[in-house]
Amino acid sequence: MSIFFYIEFKIKNNHLIQQLEETLKLHNEIVSCINENCIYNYNTSDLLEFYEKIKNKCNENLEILKQIQKNNDNEIYEKCEHNFITDIIDINLDKSMTICYCTICELTKRKD
Ligand SMILES: [Zn+2]
Repeated sequence: MSIFFYIEFKIKNNHLIQQLEETLKLHNEIVSCINENCIYNYNTSDLLEFYEKIKNKCNENLEILKQIQKNNDNEIYEKCEHNFITDIIDINLDKSMTICYCTICELTKRKD
């Protein structure tokens, strides 16, 4: 498979990771809302159980996805004909950091 597949795959997976993280955030908001507004009974208990399942599945999938991304990054790093450039990025107002990354695959340069 070409390097472009791996890069495209990485971008799509990043979107999926973001969406799962967004889902987890929403989960927390919904659970807080239930806890603050509902009288605890069998229905609320079922609801909370349902959202708990979503959260667990999300976390599980996030872990798997992050591992897939890691493997994919390794594949990209190996296949890319890197064009490394050095850049200074601001961490905050009085702190900056020098990084070396590839303009093609956007991965930072690894130590040999
Ligand atoms: Zn590269």
